[in-house]
Amino acid sequence: MATIDVHNPASGGVVGSVPLHSTEECVAAAKTARQSFTHWRVRTGRERGEMLRSAFELMMERQEELARLIVLENGKVLSDARAEVAYAAEFFRWFSEEAVRVDGDLRRAPNGSHWFAVTREPVGPALCITPWNFPAAMATRKIGPALAAGCTVVLKPASETPLTAYAIADILYECGVPRDALQVVTPDPPAEAVHAMLSSGFIKKLSFTGSTRVGSLLLTQAAERIVNCSMELGGNAPFIVCDDADIDAAVDGAMIAKMRNGGAACTAANRFYVHTSVYEEFTQKFVARMNALVVGNGLDDGVTVGPLVNSAQQQRVMSLIHRATDAGAEIACGGSATPSPMCGVEPTVLVNVQPDNPILGEEVFGPVAPIVRIENVEDSVHLFNGVDHGLVSYIYSGNAGRGMKIANMLETGMVGLNRGLVSDPAAPFGGVKESGLGREGAHEGLLAFLETKYVSTEW
Ligand code: NAD
Repeated sequence: MATIDVHNPASGGVVGSVPLHSTEECVAAAKTARQSFTHWRVRTGRERGEMLRSAFELMMERQEELARLIVLENGKVLSDARAEVAYAAEFFRWFSEEAVRVDGDLRRAPNGSHWFAVTREPVGPALCITPWNFPAAMATRKIGPALAAGCTVVLKPASETPLTAYAIADILYECGVPRDALQVVTPDPPAEAVHAMLSSGFIKKLSFTGSTRVGSLLLTQAAERIVNCSMELGGNAPFIVCDDADIDAAVDGAMIAKMRNGGAACTAANRFYVHTSVYEEFTQKFVARMNALVVGNGLDDGVTVGPLVNSAQQQRVMSLIHRATDAGAEIACGGSATPSPMCGVEPTVLVNVQPDNPILGEEVFGPVAPIVRIENVEDSVHLFNGVDHGLVSYIYSGNAGRGMKIANMLETGMVGLNRGLVSDPAAPFGGVKESGLGREGAHEGLLAFLETKYVSTEW
């Protein structure tokens, strides 16, 4: 059987392999998902919920083993990987509780003569496609609600990080999920197989997390068969520090918002806008913290930043730094790639960044923080909103009322107000503009896998 080798971004060595699935095998998986949907959808919410609850517990029992696997294939540091496993498992716990909350209601027709019995039904077999940056959490954030709602799943993980996806599927099988209700496919390259699955007629839901470029392409493919879509796409988060902010808290928040997952997060702070009155203090303290980080193999003691997932990502981030400095930015710390074979980039802070610097228009997806000095926060809202993406923003202000007013002016699906972290399985995660369609997590995450149906009835 043909296989795909999975490489360790810290050393370049092979850490495992997974089956290389053909387009025909992927379409066959979609067909199986269609056939098994008939059986899975009629299992009770309680049964499905208890399987997910057991999977939460088993994932936490295996937290260390899964975390090490994530480090090996993704490169992130062990503490980040442990946090990811806990975060990922929480989606199973949350949706185990939501599985029994698929409700409906009874509404009276306006003329009072009859009733509408409104119910919710699983949308159908779901194709779930995930990126490499959170190999566990992006999978459980989709599998959890899909299985809870009664949908069967074909999961296509990123080719860079498929080992974690297979390990999570094994946990679900151990907890009673039938193998035909959840299948993992690994075609590489994926374009032809994904298109074939979407046009097969077997898939009724596409839940995609990845880049805006690929999301946009898949939306056009899904349109051919009117496939219901949820899209979690790229981000370009502003991190706004007001003149009245607690600067130490803002620096703590900036470290989380920028450096969680080594900067490779859709929620990563991408553009820092700091009021001129606190610019020097914030920049000096932030640079000191970034300088203290240690890049290396994520499994080694003392290492606080891992490499990026491969050399293509490393080169992409380095070229963004070079374009930023060509446009006048200055390097306050970092600025270099780590020596081969490690695909890392030193934590980098760029200062004297002008509002039209090209780096501010792109998702960096790495450990680089460009800082723009601003004279007035409220007058700079056009800068914060002046990008195509709209996933998340961060604001630090000592005045909660002012912070809420600014939050209301920001064109993003989420805002961290005096917090550098917004991700939570119980909160509706998602973006506006070119950052996506729909929400994951919370009750909204379950609704994404349900269709509304009503029965017009008289008695
Ligand atoms: P990507 O778009 O390159 O790949 C995502 C997935 O799509 C992978 O499984 C990949 O194999 C598959 N894919 C790639 N090209 C395809 C094609 N032509 N047809 C079908 N499938 C294809 O993204 P990535 O580099 O893996 O991940 C980084 C991106 O993901 C960033 O833009 C990041 O912001 C985004 N992301 C968003 C969220 C969110 O919740 N909004 C979360 C994590 C990552």
